[in-house]
Amino acid sequence: MIYMDHSATSPVDPEVFKAMEPYFVDSFGNASTLYSLGREARKAMEDSRKKVASLIGADPTEVIFTSGGTESDNIAIKGTAYRLRKKGNHIITSDIEHPAVEETCKYLEKNGFQVTYLPAGEEGIVKVEDLKNAITDKTILITIMHANNEIGTIQPIKEIGEIAREHKIYFHTDAVQSVGKIPVDVKDLNVDMLSLSSHKLYGPKGIGALYIKKGVRLEPIIHGGGHEKGIRPGTENVAGIVGLGKACEIAEQNLEENFKRLTAIRDEIIEKVLSGIEQSYLNGHPTKRLPNNINFRFTSIEGESLVLHLDAKGIASSTGSACSSKKLEPSHVLMALGLKEVDAHGSLRLTLGKENKEEEIDYVVESIKDAVDTLRKLSPLWCQVDEE
Ligand SMILES: *Cc1c(COP(=O)(O)O)cnc(C)c1O
Repeated sequence: MIYMDHSATSPVDPEVFKAMEPYFVDSFGNASTLYSLGREARKAMEDSRKKVASLIGADPTEVIFTSGGTESDNIAIKGTAYRLRKKGNHIITSDIEHPAVEETCKYLEKNGFQVTYLPAGEEGIVKVEDLKNAITDKTILITIMHANNEIGTIQPIKEIGEIAREHKIYFHTDAVQSVGKIPVDVKDLNVDMLSLSSHKLYGPKGIGALYIKKGVRLEPIIHGGGHEKGIRPGTENVAGIVGLGKACEIAEQNLEENFKRLTAIRDEIIEKVLSGIEQSYLNGHPTKRLPNNINFRFTSIEGESLVLHLDAKGIASSTGSACSSKKLEPSHVLMALGLKEVDAHGSLRLTLGKENKEEEIDYVVESIKDAVDTLRKLSPLWCQVDEE
C-alpha cells in the first residue's frame, strides 16, 4: 500500500514504539509517587518535555502534556476566554480552522463571546490588514492556525504575532500540522500558546502538548489533582509522553532532509497531474504550503469516488478532512476559497510522509489519471463541460 494520508494520521515510528514499550509493563509507576518506580516515570516524562520544548524553541517549563491537538486547542481558547471575560469578549480566528478551533469558537459564541472569522480568500491565507481592522478594545484572543490540514497553506504567524503583541492580545496558534514538518520556533513566531499533536508526527495517538509562554495565565477547564500545573490534571500518560518526546527528537534530527525530499516529490506530482489531466487544478497557495501537502480538484469528479478508486489501486488518500468527509457538506475550507459547491466536492488530498518514495510518483500519477478518466466517462456532467 502507498499511504498518502499523513495529515489524517501517521504511522508510529518503530523507534518511537520501542522507546514506549518499557513504560507499559516494567516502568509502570505513577509519575506522582515518591518511590523509585514513580521517580523513573517522572524522569522519563521530564526528558520528554525537554525534547518537545527543543523542537519548538521553548523552555521545558512552558510545555504541558495534553491528550492531543483537540484538547490543547480547547484549553488554550476556553482557558483564555474564561480568564479574560471581564476584560473583553471578542475573539479573532480564521474561516479555515480545524474543527477543534472552529467548534470551540462557535461554542463560545453561544455563551456570550463574539467571534470574527477572517477570510482566508482564494489562496487560503489570511491578510494581516484584515486582522488589524478586526481588532477592537474588547479583543482578548487571536487564534489562527499555523498550517492548514486540508490545503497545507502556511499563515503569516510571525506578523500576526507582532500585531497581537503590540495590542497586548493573547495569540494562540494550532500548529498540529506544521510541527516536525517546517521549522517552528515559538519565540520567532511571537506566539503565546501553541498546540501540537503526537500522531501527526509519527508518535502515538491520544497525546499532545500545549506550549504556554511564561507569564500567560489560563483558567483551567478540567479540574482534578493538580498535574501539569493544574492546567491539565489527570494521571499522566507516561508511555504516550515518552512516545511524543521520541517522535519530536526524531523529527528535529530529520526535519531539513524530509523537508527537501518531500517538497521535491510534492512538486513533481503536482506538475505531472496538472500537465497530464485536463481541467485539473491545485487548491491553495502554490508555494506557501506544507512540503507534504497536495490538494487537487478535478472538474466533474466526485472526491469520494476518486478516493475509492485510488484505494482499489492500493493508494490511501482523502477528500476534504477526515471529519468533514463523513458529512455530505463540502469542506468549509474549500468553500472558504470561494469554490463552487460542485467543485469543492471534486477535491483530492494527498499528504506525503517520510516513508513515501520518489519511485512511487509515476504509479500514483498514472492511477489518478486512470481514475479520473474512468469517472469522467461515467459522468453526464463531463459531457456538458466538453460541449461548452
Ligand atoms: C489533527 C488535527 C487536530 C486534532 O488533533 P488530535 O490530536 O487528533 O486531537 C487539530 N488541529 C489540526 C490542524 C489537526 O490537523
